[in-house]
Amino acid sequence: KSWFSDVGMAPRDPILGVTEKFLADTSPDKINLGVGAYRDDSGKPVVLDCVREAERRIAGKDFMEYLPIGGLRDFVTESVKLAYGDACPDLSNVAAVQSLSGTGSCRLMAEFQRRFMPHSTVYIPVPTWSNHHSIWRDAGVPQSTYRYYKPETKGLDFEGLMEDVKAAPSGSLFLLHACAHNPTGVDPTPEQWAAISKLMAERGHFPFFDMAYQGFASGDCDKDSGAIRTFLRDGHRLGVSQSYAKNMGMYGQRIGAFSIVCDSKDEAARVESQMKLVARPMYSNPPLHGALMVKTILRDPQLKAQWFAEVRGMAERIISMRALLRRNLEQLGSQHSWKHITDQIGMFAYSGMTPEMVDTLAAKHSIYMTRNGRISMAGVNTKNVARLASAMHEVTK
Ligand code: PMP
Repeated sequence: KSWFSDVGMAPRDPILGVTEKFLADTSPDKINLGVGAYRDDSGKPVVLDCVREAERRIAGKDFMEYLPIGGLRDFVTESVKLAYGDACPDLSNVAAVQSLSGTGSCRLMAEFQRRFMPHSTVYIPVPTWSNHHSIWRDAGVPQSTYRYYKPETKGLDFEGLMEDVKAAPSGSLFLLHACAHNPTGVDPTPEQWAAISKLMAERGHFPFFDMAYQGFASGDCDKDSGAIRTFLRDGHRLGVSQSYAKNMGMYGQRIGAFSIVCDSKDEAARVESQMKLVARPMYSNPPLHGALMVKTILRDPQLKAQWFAEVRGMAERIISMRALLRRNLEQLGSQHSWKHITDQIGMFAYSGMTPEMVDTLAAKHSIYMTRNGRISMAGVNTKNVARLASAMHEVTK
């Protein structure tokens, strides 16, 4: 008998499965709205000019040593400043390490929670990026959920959320999407964030912000970290996951940061030392190249300004595609309201289409998306938006 004869086949990843079906389709007009990666108006992946320039500056450097466990210090410092702005008066109270992008930051947070926040539960929004459940499950942290999305309004279930925050045992960890909630594109308003912050402080919960889309939502990096800054100004101690996958287009470089705001410099030093102890047996130390690129961009005022302009360009293209998709659907005479397409923000539109409608879109129109009806707006462009709208109209009649 083989060692592995009893190993069952793992279920396919829902998003990567969409890509496989898309690749197998031979239609020249096929459209992939599954994966959350930015595409330009010709449907092509993009390498930002600021990233090209940073690569040019790094090229030929003879430094290829290991980074320390916590990563490249200057990169981490710049990342923390980018997330917290001036809302955190004393950055020496922040414990932070370089991470393997947003996923890696979440994994470190989950493991840190298991070790140092004993008996605490992680509260995860419904719905969420599906990997959140798996990450905290693998870390062995008890999970619960809180209400977030309201199908009837295709908006936020603010009352449900507040009730669940109130009902959770004091000292729970709340996983919050800092902006551009995945998959719904529904974010609380600044006033709602303020109320959530206040209630969480009263209840003594620990907020952990997963920020995978800073700058990518509104086009403005400061605005997109507004929720985190509100919480900081309210005196919260909190954690943040940052990723440069989307906002710098560095998907494959696996570059991000994980930070926790502590009570004092001394506490931050202790917390940071434990973050490194979590990271060391997982991957020893993080990769160098992406950290050097991001540091090069964030440390040079001109390159940083160029990046701000480029991230704004990506966000604005997506925002304009939302408007165009909605207008096309309305012009076709659709009886449904498509207001949510322009109300929602970030990479995704949570269309409200059923799994059956999504299946028909694939089978009849060669248009692919996840079965929850989530459209990756990054895959929509001026050339395919009319065809997408008419197919959506057709299946939702
Ligand atoms: N969190 C959320 C909410 C996401 O949407 C994503 C990307 N799909 C991530 C984290 C992780 O992305 P990465 O590890 O590529 O930074």
